[in-house]
Amino acid sequence: MSYQDEFIIQEPSAFEGKTGKVIVICREGLVHPDSHDLLWESDALKWIIPLEAELHYLGRYNGEQVFTVELEEQHFAPLAPQVSPLRSFLGKLPEGLFQLLGRAAQISEWHRAHRYCGYCGGVTTLVNNERATSCAHCGKVYYPRLSPCIMALITRGDECLLARNGQWQLPYFSVLAGFIEPGESAEEAVRREVMEEVGLRVGELHYKKTQPWPFPGQLMIGFFADYAGGDIQVDGIEIAEANWYHYKSLPNTPGEFALSGQLIRTFVQDRALRNGE
Ligand SMILES: [Zn+2]
Repeated sequence: MSYQDEFIIQEPSAFEGKTGKVIVICREGLVHPDSHDLLWESDALKWIIPLEAELHYLGRYNGEQVFTVELEEQHFAPLAPQVSPLRSFLGKLPEGLFQLLGRAAQISEWHRAHRYCGYCGGVTTLVNNERATSCAHCGKVYYPRLSPCIMALITRGDECLLARNGQWQLPYFSVLAGFIEPGESAEEAVRREVMEEVGLRVGELHYKKTQPWPFPGQLMIGFFADYAGGDIQVDGIEIAEANWYHYKSLPNTPGEFALSGQLIRTFVQDRALRNGE
């Protein structure tokens, strides 16, 4: 039997009865039964979840309803669970399951951050049939926040540009990335980030794909960008080093669980194919 990993996002009120699986979140990350089991059966939490806690419906995973709830340690301690940061699961889980956990973390973060209205300080409540909270006093509505980010792999013939971030502990090289500014298109963000980080101009952009990245709530938008001119100039702070690499001799790069790794792999496969390998 093949391993099933089907995650379907559904609306907040699309569940039938509050039974199924539950993802328990705390400030430190995921609260889970053990290293093999990351989700709880709703029955196991019956006496643990306090009345005031909100159970948020996420969708279906392998056909089963899945909810998430954020709990304080005093509530989950009796379960003697494991607590793991979400990052510790990067690259170690099937894609659908990781997306499900990321969704749980992001929904919990949104709910935690919008208990009070940012306009007037009033208490907010959940809106029916919508993933939103609203302020009882002034009516302002708060939705989960996504932060769009671009990723760009610059290519020049059989070479691509990879950079090492000055903040990273590990000596590996990746594609350029940055947040999209308010008032900016994704394409403009690619051109601006490339110029700011490595001093290059890029020509045509080729959209590849997107990936949700729950640290804490980015949507990564991946492009290939054709080199158009300029010499590499790095600021030495955000980007410590950037170089052109032939597709056959790449440095350490991110794994394919990350969009950056997928862009690099696609580039390598494409060049190998073009060169008749
Ligand atoms: Zn308000």
